[in-house]
Amino acid sequence: MNISKKISVGVLGATGSVGQKFISLLQNHPFFELKEIAASDRSAGKKYSDAVNWILSDSLPESVANMVVKSCTDKFESKLLFSAMDASVAGEIETELAGRGHFIASNSKNHRWDADVPLLVPEVNADHLGLVKTQNYNGGGIVTNPNCSTIGLVLALKPILDNFGIEQLNVVTMQALSGAGYPGVSSLDIIDNVVPFIGGEEEKLETEPKKIFGKFAGIAIELAEMKISAQTNRVSVIDGHLETVQIKLRDKASVKDILEVWSRFKAEPQDFDLPFAPKQPIHYFTEHKYPQPRLHRNLDKGMACATGRLRHCNLFDYKFVVLSHNTVRGAAGGSILCAEMMVAKGMI
Ligand code: NAP
Repeated sequence: MNISKKISVGVLGATGSVGQKFISLLQNHPFFELKEIAASDRSAGKKYSDAVNWILSDSLPESVANMVVKSCTDKFESKLLFSAMDASVAGEIETELAGRGHFIASNSKNHRWDADVPLLVPEVNADHLGLVKTQNYNGGGIVTNPNCSTIGLVLALKPILDNFGIEQLNVVTMQALSGAGYPGVSSLDIIDNVVPFIGGEEEKLETEPKKIFGKFAGIAIELAEMKISAQTNRVSVIDGHLETVQIKLRDKASVKDILEVWSRFKAEPQDFDLPFAPKQPIHYFTEHKYPQPRLHRNLDKGMACATGRLRHCNLFDYKFVVLSHNTVRGAAGGSILCAEMMVAKGMI
């Protein structure tokens, strides 16, 4: 898909772990042109290169290095604002900016459960964008990304759910350090270690899939019925969340049936050929030792999920492994794809 004129965008929380990823991924984007960046009052008024502790391996783009950082409550010219603000402040600021007519594509948890806000994974529930019409924001709106572990998980589950139904789900995550933001977890806590607790994360994994897989009934989402249990662990990996998953199906399916629906799976982002849409959303690895974070997190621009080790389970019906890049597919890249979807649907 091509557009005639690029759309100006801003990034809120531009100095953080996800904000930096936005800046990197928005370079030379065919739809969007980065015009404004904002962060806390600690950074506002400074040149971006002075305000940021750049932690990405790709170099800080020159065009952004000299931009002056705004405060997130300043006036913005861009209709579309990507939000990667700390959750302690994101809720109120996003409400205020949407009320001023901006479209907010948010990574923060604050608005995910608002009845009129889509919790969007464009390959899974693009129809939920219809909720935006019910919002009351003066021509603006809010669309949210789910939690970074939820995104890879629901991508892998979607074709299984559509074809065979899922009654129960158990997931255990091994989550990367970048998921905790910067500076994140102290080195003495995580080197030579695994921390078997991530605050609030199990609750998100146990509830968000129900909204994402829910039915859009014109004005609201009817939550999907599914029993979910989650356990989350922080591990010493920089990027890429690995999850081991067990599922109990409604209908019988063979390993071959599941592999086939995974390999066939494509959705609206692929139909529109959106710039950040992975060509193939789910890749299956037949090698027993794959997928692995270091080797496979960047698959298909970091936007695909990698699956492997699909086999029978003695407790449930099947078990498998899924991996996705938490700051790309699980945050900035996922949010950019949400915005591309809104452009494709004529909403921006
Ligand atoms: P982070 O590295 O801690 O960055 C937080 C950002 O928020 C910084 O730019 C910071 O600016 C800004 N900020 C802090 N206080 C502020 C204030 N009072 N007003 C305006 N801006 C303020 O966090 P992160 O990991 O990038 O996460 C950002 C958001 O995305 C969080 O809500 C997080 O839960 C969510 N998320 C993260 C991931 C991930 O993988 N990391 C994935 C999905 C969702 P200063 O530098 O000026 O302090």
